[in-house]
This record gives sequence, structure tokens and C-alpha cells, in this order.
Amino acid sequence: MENLEKAIEAIKEILPNLQLLENEPMRDHTSFKIGGPVRALAAPSSVDSLSKICYILKKYKIAPMMLGNGTNLLCPDEGMNDLFMMSTEKLQNMFLLPDGSIYAEAGVSLAKLATFAQQNGLTGLEFASGIPGTVGGGAIMNAGAYGGELKDCIQSIVFYYLPEQRLYEIDNEHCTFGYRHSIFQQMGGCVILSAVFHLEAGDKDEISAKMRDFNERRRDKQPLDLPSAGSAFRRPEGHYAAQLIDEAGLRGYSVGGAQVSEKHAGFIVNTGNATSHDVYELMDHVRHTVYDKFNVALAPEIIILPPDFKLEDNLPDVPLHNVAVNDMNFSGDTEKK
Ligand SMILES: Cc1cc2nc3c(=O)[nH]c(=O)nc-3n(C[C@H](O)[C@H](O)[C@H](O)COP(=O)(O)OP(=O)(O)OC[C@H]3O[C@@H](n4cnc5c(N)ncnc54)[C@H](O)[C@@H]3O)c2cc1C
Repeated sequence: MENLEKAIEAIKEILPNLQLLENEPMRDHTSFKIGGPVRALAAPSSVDSLSKICYILKKYKIAPMMLGNGTNLLCPDEGMNDLFMMSTEKLQNMFLLPDGSIYAEAGVSLAKLATFAQQNGLTGLEFASGIPGTVGGGAIMNAGAYGGELKDCIQSIVFYYLPEQRLYEIDNEHCTFGYRHSIFQQMGGCVILSAVFHLEAGDKDEISAKMRDFNERRRDKQPLDLPSAGSAFRRPEGHYAAQLIDEAGLRGYSVGGAQVSEKHAGFIVNTGNATSHDVYELMDHVRHTVYDKFNVALAPEIIILPPDFKLEDNLPDVPLHNVAVNDMNFSGDTEKK
């Protein structure tokens, strides 16, 4: 705690214009609208300031947690007084590379990325247009829908590795992407900065039609009018979580303000003033009931905070390319007021 306070003071001194919110309620930064204050929430607008922040955090042995759009998170009501969060909201550059692939920084929303691809007649990202996350959060989760996953179009990723304070580029084949899984989940202190997407040429109207169709299906099936963090549970092998929950008679079941959605039993929604404890209790009840009835163990897909990571050097033994800061196309290198 003492170290965190010292780190915050040092960061404020070095980057006086940095957007740094203190004791910021996470309910204002998550799609679930649940969660008490985090001690600090910084939003660097360049790799230069991000690396300065990381330098100070490492000095004080603090592992920061990254925040994208906060659409897969459940934060505790008690808050996280010992957590330094870093948001990618200001890393928003996106452009076409000479070979026709798309470069996008971590904070670009998947909706914006999919629209950019459509506008440039590139097909392959239609499935992502309705996923409410960012490039960074999507890559780490290998977000997917309607038969598509980000792993199908990511060519490479650049990440900052805090324990070594270096930038690396990793190719798709070494990211060990799987169902809602990537190699980055095991790397404490890994900050995804950008990704390059390789897509095929397609017809703009057909791409638009596909995006519209996926988004209509989403609106029809998902409770988009209520706060949630998407599917509460991962898909168990050979089953669909929503179907098991429904067949267990739990559709509409609620604890406090948390409810198994009436519209889609795979979602837990916040019907008003849900607390994180309402959601924990509800998820527990769902898991026990489904296990008792079907002998299937459901695992959460939602990331339940606080995080359990340490600042250890555990870079995986896979081919990585060093990247110089100057090679990056980040928007500016100083914080502006
Ligand atoms: C209504 C709704 C519908 C959804 N539908 C889908 C769907 O169809 N398919 C699907 O896969 N998901 C879906 N989700 C879940 C969610 O949108 C995805 O998991 C998404 O990829 C999370 O991105 P995010 O930017 O919000 O990440 P966050 O929730 O902010 O963070 C998720 C994790 O990624 C880490 N992280 C974020 N950015 C970075 C970074 N730059 N570097 C390192 N780590 C980072 C965070 O620390 C955290 O561990 C849905 C959610 C909602 C609310």
C-alpha cells in the first residue's frame, strides 16, 4: 500500500498532465455497472507515457491491471484499494498498412475495427462488430461469435512486457489462441498495445449485410437493454451453458439485483442495484444446481476481480521479435492537457 502511494506520487510528478483518476468507482467503467473504487486508474495516451508509468510501477514492485472497455469484468463492491489500473481508452490509432492489413491500437473498439474493415472492403471481422470490447481485451480473450474468433484474423500483436520493460512482437501462431484463451493470460505484466489484422478482400454491401444480420440476431437473443458482462459461463465441452441453465429451471432466477436473464439464460444481468455479492451468490447457485442435475461443472467466463497476478518474469519460451519504441505508430509521445 505504501509503495502504491509512493508510485502514484512519482507518476503524478513525472506526468502531470496524465489522466489519473483516484479512488474511481469501477461501476462507472464496467458494462456490469458494479464495483467500488480502484485506487488509481490511469489512461496514458502514448507508449512513451505508458512505459514511464510502468518503469515507476516496476520500481515499486506493483503489477498494474489493464482495462479495456470493462465488458468482461466483475469488480468487488468493497473496491480495490491496492490496485493500479491502466486503461487503453486513449490508444485509438487505426490505419491500413501498405499490404492491405489493418493496424489497430489496443483501445480501438471491436465495433469500430469491424466498421473500418467494411469501409475498406475487407471481410473477416463481421462477427466482431457486436462484441462490445476493445482490440486489447478481445485479443487477450480471443473474443468470438457466430463461428468467428479474433485468432482467425490477427496476424501479430505488439505488447509491452513490464518485468523486462521491453516491447515485443509475437506472431499469431505463437499466441496459443484457444477458446477464450491466449498466451497473454499467463503473463503477469503484459500490456497489449496493438494488433495487425489480416483480412480478405470482400464486397462492401455483403459485409454490411452480414454485420447487420449478426447484430439483429444479437438484439433478438441477448439482453442488451440491461447491464451485464456477456456470457457468465464458458461453454462446457459438449454442452451449451445457457441450455443447461435453462433446463435446470434457472431462467429468471435472481439474488438481490442479479438475475439469470429472462431473455438468454447464459447471461447474468444487473436489474438495478446488483452488488458483486449478489452475482457471486447467483453464480454459485447456478453452478451447484447445474452440477447436481447434469453432472457438468460450469466455469466462469466473466473475469472476477481482484486479479491474482504477481510481477514475475515468466515470459514464455516462444519466438518473439524485439520492437523499438520508435517503430511504433503511437499518437504523440507526451500527455496533453
Ligand atoms: C452484452 C455483451 C455481449 C458480449 N458478447 C461477446 C461475444 O459475443 N463474444 C465474446 O467473446 N465476448 C463477448 N462479451 C465479453 C467481452 O466483450 C469480451 O470478452 C471482450 O473481448 C472484452 O474486451 P474489453 O476491452 O471489454 O476487456 P476488459 O473487460 O476491459 O478486460 C478483459 C481482460 O482483458 C485484460 N485486458 C484488457 N485490455 C488489455 C490490454 N491492452 N493488455 C493486456 N490485457 C488487457 C483485462 O485486464 C482483463 O483481464 C460480451 C460482453 C457483453 C457485455
